[in-house]
Amino acid sequence: MSSSQTDRSADPSCDGIKKRLDIVVVGGSLGGLCTALALKSLPQRHRITILERNPTPLLHNQGAGIVAGGDTLGFFKRYDRCNRPLAVSSQRRQYLDKDGEIVHRENMVQNMTSWDLVYYILRADVDYVHSAYCDVPVRRKEEGEVRHLHGHTVTGIKDKGERVAVAYEMADGGGTMEADLVIGADGPNSTIRAAMHPEVQRTYAGYVALRGTVPENEVTPKTREAFSERFTFFHARGIQILAYLIPGESGTLEPGKRLINFVYYTNFPSASLDEPSNELAELMTDIDGVRHRITMPPGKTNPAAWEKQRKIAREKLPPPFAEIVRATKKPFVQAITDVIAPTNEFMDGKVVLIGDALAGFRPHTVASTSQAAFDAMILADMLEGKVSRKEWKKQTLAYARTIQKRGVNMGNRSQHEDLPLEEHVRDRNLASRPREEEVWPEWAVADVL
Ligand SMILES: Cc1cc2nc3c(=O)[nH]c(=O)nc-3n(C[C@H](O)[C@H](O)[C@H](O)COP(=O)(O)OP(=O)(O)OC[C@H]3O[C@@H](n4cnc5c(N)ncnc54)[C@H](O)[C@@H]3O)c2cc1C
Repeated sequence: MSSSQTDRSADPSCDGIKKRLDIVVVGGSLGGLCTALALKSLPQRHRITILERNPTPLLHNQGAGIVAGGDTLGFFKRYDRCNRPLAVSSQRRQYLDKDGEIVHRENMVQNMTSWDLVYYILRADVDYVHSAYCDVPVRRKEEGEVRHLHGHTVTGIKDKGERVAVAYEMADGGGTMEADLVIGADGPNSTIRAAMHPEVQRTYAGYVALRGTVPENEVTPKTREAFSERFTFFHARGIQILAYLIPGESGTLEPGKRLINFVYYTNFPSASLDEPSNELAELMTDIDGVRHRITMPPGKTNPAAWEKQRKIAREKLPPPFAEIVRATKKPFVQAITDVIAPTNEFMDGKVVLIGDALAGFRPHTVASTSQAAFDAMILADMLEGKVSRKEWKKQTLAYARTIQKRGVNMGNRSQHEDLPLEEHVRDRNLASRPREEEVWPEWAVADVL
């Protein structure tokens, strides 16, 4: 058996948790929702409370794409009951030169979806939220209970012996609630991680991703063809851009109504995000003069700063990429960062980190949602006794550590080195390796064997 396959039998501690638990999930984005869905499906019918800091009942949609990797698809196959298609498939990967000519092709099917479609399907499955994205499944009598509480910002946790006290703030006060198990699904700036490991820093990688979408029927036929059913890339010194089709409004997959999604990595040297260079500060200061540290929300970009990027796009990118960057109406900016927790369980296993709270991957890995989905599935398997606690820890930490390091390597090579195309192709192919085929390196598992 390879070191990444899941051993379901060898450990005698593999007997699961029989009693009904009170579980608090901190964070109601994709990781928190995947966890709530997997845990409410367990036979113990756990009582689950999601605490999400966002003040409104639904998270604000950034409207951008997600590559639905093996674990994301596997998660939906196992738990989703909305029964609607999730993704647009891309049949091949291709690389363009500066003139827009295809210089390399690889046949490979990949599935592309949108963050909002995944979010709304999960909300329908988890707490029966109606939307234009999908039909809500019929309630099951035998499942666990889920409460979704928005406007609850978790501020800290305290070990109470058998249980954990979770403190939260609300606009009109706050309080604490106790849980048998607390899941930190609160993203790359995790409060739960900070409570356990205040020394862990989220650091800037020296470049940003300019992101956006364009309706496929609003571009020239040549550009539409360049991105239809294809995952297309361009590399130049200090630049990487990629694009693919994603579902359109309300998750439609209808040809003509889908969106072309791009991710355009470009260097903005700066010692840190707290003391940004003049160029980075200009890019991250919005139309109202407010400085954003990590994400500039869609539609807020300062037109003067964005106009500079449109001009650079015309000079430096192949014509189809330049066209979509220049055509996007609501660009947003994401500073690329690195963060990873040293471990993922605390307070004798009563507190667990998952998804971006455990390890924030660089987007080149296209694995953030898959990590969240995998962490949710294997946590449910561990609680049910299908996987031992030791095996759960090994698989989740090895995945987090290996892919996080791979993302740093891929990003640094792409943005800060001048490599021949074969090297970029090799890195991209490595990032597509299914998790089940990974052989975790010794350094990633040494402390959990
Ligand atoms: C609104 C939103 C839009 C996104 N859009 C995209 C996209 O278009 N494409 C893409 O590739 N990725 C997107 N992401 C990131 C993507 O969801 C993650 O990279 C990945 O799916 C892992 O998810 P996560 O749940 O672990 O972390 P995140 O998605 O970062 O979620 C963390 C959640 O925890 C909440 N939270 C944080 N701190 C607290 C606290 N103290 N108390 C309570 N709640 C807290 C946050 O509000 C957030 O909802 C988006 C994330 C968000 C939050």
